[in-house]
Amino acid sequence: MHEMGIVYHVADEVERVAAENGIHHVRRVTLQIGQVTGVLFDYMADLWTWVADKSDVLRGSVLGYEEIHAVTRCEDCGQLYDTVPQGRQCPYCGSWRTFLVQGNEYIIKEIETDDDDFSEEDEKDAPLPSEQASGSRQPAEKGYREWRK
Ligand SMILES: [Zn+2]
Repeated sequence: MHEMGIVYHVADEVERVAAENGIHHVRRVTLQIGQVTGVLFDYMADLWTWVADKSDVLRGSVLGYEEIHAVTRCEDCGQLYDTVPQGRQCPYCGSWRTFLVQGNEYIIKEIETDDDDFSEEDEKDAPLPSEQASGSRQPAEKGYREWRK
């Protein structure tokens, strides 16, 4: 089950980051999810509630998401275009030699904590790696996160 795998992976990763940074409780986790990953976010949010309830750090936290727009590049003419309306054929030159640049990945974008003692300086020390959905062909993108109290 694709969604379940992602939820477990994200929960593990957030717990690891929380432990490394001395965070006692996470309030909200925001994912960026590619437009063509095919995951059902509402289902993931339900699974998250169930998984988070088993963890002291994550219990009661909310999973939110933002969509990563899917973009394809044509190898013949070099143009970028929207993947979803066009599919795999380049709308500029008709080539089928195209590849997905972004839109099949998921990234933990943001972890919000309700710990009062979390200092802003910690955030530069531990960059979070990006999370690649399985079957993804594009190169890894730099992970990005920010902390908010
Ligand atoms: Zn083209």
